[in-house]
Amino acid sequence: MASPKAMSIPPSRPGFVSFVSAGPGSPDLLTLRAESLLKSAEVVLYDALLEEGMQKLFPNEAECVYVGKRSGAHSKTQEEINELLVHYGKQGKQIVRLKGGDASVFGRLGEEIQILRSHNIPFQIIPGVSSVTAGISELNSSLTLRGVSRQILIIDGHSIVEDPKSASYLSSFPGTLVILMASQKVEIVASILLELGYKKETPIGLVEKAGSSSSQMQISTLGEAKEYGLKLSTDGPGILYLGETLRETYNLYQEHAKTISNLP
Ligand code: SAH
Repeated sequence: MASPKAMSIPPSRPGFVSFVSAGPGSPDLLTLRAESLLKSAEVVLYDALLEEGMQKLFPNEAECVYVGKRSGAHSKTQEEINELLVHYGKQGKQIVRLKGGDASVFGRLGEEIQILRSHNIPFQIIPGVSSVTAGISELNSSLTLRGVSRQILIIDGHSIVEDPKSASYLSSFPGTLVILMASQKVEIVASILLELGYKKETPIGLVEKAGSSSSQMQISTLGEAKEYGLKLSTDGPGILYLGETLRETYNLYQEHAKTISNLP
């Protein structure tokens, strides 16, 4: 029989996981609630962050584990992340699972919730600023525009590239299209969208490192994007926007480019 000393003692309080949205990059785009939870965390499991300032908010005494992925390079598999959540949850820790942008947008949140539910570990989700809204702000534009765009469709680039046929419904979508995980394959995405029936004059914007101090943006037309691509100017994440709501920004950009080229 095991001696009482060898038996593991259950934690005196249950563990708790806060899925905290980190926002797109800059720490001043964190919510106040996110900041306060971060400051009192015992464990922080964090994704790739664009600015170092965010890490300064982690408590010195907290256990902080980087579990991020950037451009396909994964520091931990999803299974390993799930195991860490359960491991610390069972130890009775107050855990912050810090996710880029808004936790609920392409963040594998569903899988992590499922694993916690299956182990009866309680959790909460703190919403935040997604790159979807941060990027359109960098373009000085709006996702919706009265009389122009009353719908927004958010999609990942892989699903367009891997199965263009099943993306054919996009051709009749009348609103603003937002494409994540596609900045490295703009030419192929543009050529598929043109084949699906998008007009070559449709404005397309690319924003890299949106919501950070080193963000970059460019705007073109779908036709030009297919011909020449949109050259990446950073090694950070990028997001694409398509639709008539970008027309004014595009026109202003063209005007500006003309003025510059006319300078003696
Ligand atoms: N939950 C995140 C999205 C995670 S999926 C959010 O709400 O923003 C990862 C993709 O999001 C990247 O490939 C890129 O397309 C986009 N992305 C994330 N952060 C970004 C940023 N700061 N600027 C531009 N795109 C970003």
